Amino acid sequence: MFKKVLIANRGEIAIRVMRSCRELGIDSVSIHSTADENSLHVKMADESVCIGPPPSPQSYLNIQAIMSAVEITGADAIHPGYGFLSESTELAEMCKKYGVSFIGPHIEALDMMGDKIRSKKIAKNANVPILEAIEVKEYGASLESKVQELGFPVLVKASAGGGGKGMQIVHKLSELQAIVKKLEREAEAAFGDKTLFIEKYIETPRHIEVQILADKHGKILHLGERDCSVQRNYQKVIEESPSLALTDSERANICADAIKLCQAVKYDSVGTVEFIYDMKDKKYYFMEMNTRIQVEHPVTEERCKIDLIGEQIKVATGQKLEISQDDIEFNNHVIECRINAEDPNTFAPSPGKIDHYHRPGGMGVRVDDFIYSGYQVPPFYDSMISKVIVSAPDRNKCITRMKRALKETIVGGIKTNIDLHLRILDSEEFKTNNFSTNLIKELLKK
Ligand code: ADP
Ligand code: ADP
Ligand code: MG
Repeated sequence: MFKKVLIANRGEIAIRVMRSCRELGIDSVSIHSTADENSLHVKMADESVCIGPPPSPQSYLNIQAIMSAVEITGADAIHPGYGFLSESTELAEMCKKYGVSFIGPHIEALDMMGDKIRSKKIAKNANVPILEAIEVKEYGASLESKVQELGFPVLVKASAGGGGKGMQIVHKLSELQAIVKKLEREAEAAFGDKTLFIEKYIETPRHIEVQILADKHGKILHLGERDCSVQRNYQKVIEESPSLALTDSERANICADAIKLCQAVKYDSVGTVEFIYDMKDKKYYFMEMNTRIQVEHPVTEERCKIDLIGEQIKVATGQKLEISQDDIEFNNHVIECRINAEDPNTFAPSPGKIDHYHRPGGMGVRVDDFIYSGYQVPPFYDSMISKVIVSAPDRNKCITRMKRALKETIVGGIKTNIDLHLRILDSEEFKTNNFSTNLIKELLKK
């Protein structure tokens, strides 16, 4: 087992990883930028190293500084959390070079699945359904005719994109060139890779993903699906499990396909295979794989009562998975609401000082957060400040319990999206399972 894990992240996920480390008897080192000196992940860690000034490229994305922190503290492994360097082959390679374990999949899997075009090819070869992608190599008549054949609307996406960034709908041919040029510039700036592709835009989709847990000995398990269809600007807002969009046989098929894809790359860690489900023709297509722990992993943890990060750490040391597919039990309905510090009207981040914080509690309520009364939310990072995860015997009870938990929550001094969550939970569309990823857009029009 590792002795000391350096957590190359911040906020709630850094704390979440620390908890699993402690339960496994592992010391944890956190890192922080100068903007995060008073952050709870720093206070909670056994030790913390300042790795740079506030902007992420100089701190949480600064591989050299992070490797120095590993050296100084004698950590024997790095957990990258999500976001930041979690899918970075450069960090994984650096770890290999310096004899430090990277808590994630092997580098080839990271590499193959990190690129959306490549991962689609692998999925296709493994007989997992995909939406055909037109790679944008050179803009010209040949590309335009291929896109016309596909039929509008289409979605232009950055192959290296993530976090809902780097994609845009195109409704007609006359708009295509300008959008491609703009996205190429944006993708180059944000991901250092301007490669784009174009696929059919599904107009009433659900986002359904399958949680995978695998070890280095060829065992690959699924932990069921999550439905993450409540989104804003292609970013998840509410996640739940099970998904009411699937029949039992569709659920069995989508989970089997997720495993098939992971077998194709000899996947050996936790990961998520994301699918888009077309409600019109009731078909699902592989979208991308996230080769890391995800924001919404607690939904599955609460359903299956398995510590996903604990398992991720254990398999990274080479341990065999003790559980088998048949041991996994799926109980309760679970919903997660992501609480963001943001303006309810413009959705712009709303950093500032939290003058009062009251966390919800009671039966079936889990809160993964990192804020406290007096905490100053810095303006430099993601706006998510807390996740409220609620379990109950069925979906209706789960919705009622989530509403009660959110109404108990007080985050004073800054703006949050709590009222938006309540509005979604109260909507007929959500309650009756009659919605697609367009739900928030449609609610805001009312
Ligand atoms: P996931 O794929 O884990 O469900 P999303 O697709 O919504 O999550 O996007 C999560 C992304 O948002 C991360 O990959 C990261 O870029 C960013 N992100 C969100 N919250 C945080 C956070 N607390 N720390 C770092 N990055 C974050
Ligand atoms: P990211 O890497 O940013 O998570 P994804 O490829 O997972 O990018 O897409 C993010 C979200 O965008 C999906 O959850 C889905 O809601 C929407 N989306 C992606 N592809 C399509 C598509 N072809 N048609 C409609 N919506 C899509
Ligand atoms: Mg995604």
